[in-house]
Amino acid sequence: MTKHPDMPDEEFTPLSSGVLNPLAKERALGRIGYYVTTMRRGKEVDYWAVLNWFVQLANEDLTKILPVKLKQRVAEYRTLQEVSPYSFMIGGFNNVPPAIETFRELQTTVKQHLNQLLDTGRLKTGPFSVELSVSLPLNSPEGNDANRQTHRLYYGERFYPPSDEIGNGTLIYVLSRCLQRFGHMLRRCLYCQNLFLQKRLVLSKRREGKYCEDTCRALSRKRRLKEKKAEEAAQTKLKGRKRRTHDSKTRGRADHGKKRR
Ligand SMILES: [Zn+2]
Repeated sequence: MTKHPDMPDEEFTPLSSGVLNPLAKERALGRIGYYVTTMRRGKEVDYWAVLNWFVQLANEDLTKILPVKLKQRVAEYRTLQEVSPYSFMIGGFNNVPPAIETFRELQTTVKQHLNQLLDTGRLKTGPFSVELSVSLPLNSPEGNDANRQTHRLYYGERFYPPSDEIGNGTLIYVLSRCLQRFGHMLRRCLYCQNLFLQKRLVLSKRREGKYCEDTCRALSRKRRLKEKKAEEAAQTKLKGRKRRTHDSKTRGRADHGKKRR
């Protein structure tokens, strides 16, 4: 059964289950920005974008989120579980439970972890069950340079969730891996207190990342100006009171001076 790409599409088939359909998965990957293609390295996973997804999730108020947005979020969540290079689901992905409850649980955990890292400067997750592999393509011509007697080295990593796993352990593992690379870019907005990830390309020093968005920077500047004005107003009021007494004195003295002349 193939669907026309233009047809409106439900993320889950059937809706009550956590089984993703391929098109929804494709779209979710696009929204996350999961893959990045560079001239030098080709197509690879963009871990900054994946971490950014977790950070955005931590900020989201799931009680106020629009149903459409929630559905998208859950589809992204399920997609990440499936495409993660570390993911491995016992029994495959065809029999997973409805995702919404475990999604909420994930959000709570992610929020705790990110805030802990920012507040204490430390975060430990796990322990995880991981298999590491190293391979040398001993007999393949492209993996070897016979003249230089070198082998190309390949390494791999596979995450093994506990048998009662519903996928969140895998994602916490992915989150931890992302934080190992980009955790130093995690920030809390000085204006709205939301968590955000600094942009990778810093255009100028002013954009070094104290605020999550330009709006917050602008609002913060507005607030500072207002405070400054209020302070100045308070001071002029104080000075004004002083000046008035001073003025009367000078006026008196001036009158006196005039008389003397
Ligand atoms: Zn903000």
